[in-house]
Amino acid sequence: MKLLDGKAISKELREELAAEVKEMVGKGERPPHLAIVLVGNNPASETYVNAKVKACKNIGYETSLMHFPADISQELLLSAIDELNENEDIDGFIVQLPLPAHIEDRTVIERVLPGKDVDGFHPINVGRMSLGLDSFVSATPGGIVEMIKRYGIETEGKHCVVLGRSNIVGGPMSILMRRNTYPGNCTVTIAHSRTQNLAEVCRSADILVAAIGKPEFVTADMVKEGAVVIDVGINRIDDASRERGYRLVGDVAFDPVAEKSSYITPVPGGVGPMTIAYLLNNTMIAARKRIGQ
Ligand code: NDP
Repeated sequence: MKLLDGKAISKELREELAAEVKEMVGKGERPPHLAIVLVGNNPASETYVNAKVKACKNIGYETSLMHFPADISQELLLSAIDELNENEDIDGFIVQLPLPAHIEDRTVIERVLPGKDVDGFHPINVGRMSLGLDSFVSATPGGIVEMIKRYGIETEGKHCVVLGRSNIVGGPMSILMRRNTYPGNCTVTIAHSRTQNLAEVCRSADILVAAIGKPEFVTADMVKEGAVVIDVGINRIDDASRERGYRLVGDVAFDPVAEKSSYITPVPGGVGPMTIAYLLNNTMIAARKRIGQ
């Protein structure tokens, strides 16, 4: 078994981006600028946003955090998005999800200019990605594909089972793995809560991507000997032995599954760090377009 070390690969990617920022600034260009819109005080969202701001600063990006109260009206939020769309000092921006119940995610996502949509959630980016055209690819699947590429994992002709069909993880992941390029050229099956014989479907996977949000759901009997296992899940489970009272586990029962797999991502330290690094990568793509590269 080989560990897919998202921490190490994300460091490599971040170092490359930091070098590019230096070069950009050396040529008299301003560094890439990512803005983040946060609504309300969801503790998990605050943690993610802080990590993104810190990651930007560490590699020399500019960041702006726009933090709105939970009761902001949809109309006001949309007008803040309009301003970000028009602001030429900002290369890309994200609206941290989930949004409060009175705001429609879809309306907000569709208001973001596709050229600044570094989360890759806008239907135009999703559609272009599906067609294999130039687009922003959402950060979690984009980061996973980058990790597969950097480890040189063979994908052509393999059976990839994606467990979960959300718009931000499972859906785009399945599209990327069926592209006729590397990484891709897989035969893809998408499994979800209505899938029958789920264990059998998972067992047929050469590459298994688990993104369902159920702690340690994938057990060793669901995994083929030698499979590549990518665990996207981030779940908190109670653990009195930890100071904070919980620990993070993935959607895969790591120890027993690791024994059977050829490659596996740990949680934490696998897909999570790649997601942030890939958001930085998307922001660089937006900045390169600004300076005509
Ligand atoms: P969603 O809740 O949006 O989607 C979950 C998917 O899993 C759905 O398609 C659902 O099926 C399916 N599902 C749920 N229960 C089962 C089950 N028992 N059997 C089969 N399928 C099931 O989750 P996300 O895609 O947003 O996130 C998935 C996980 O990944 C979460 O743990 C999340 O925290 C984590 N995550 C991690 C990131 C990272 O950076 N590492 C980034 C984003 C997410 P159905 O459609 O039928 O309801």
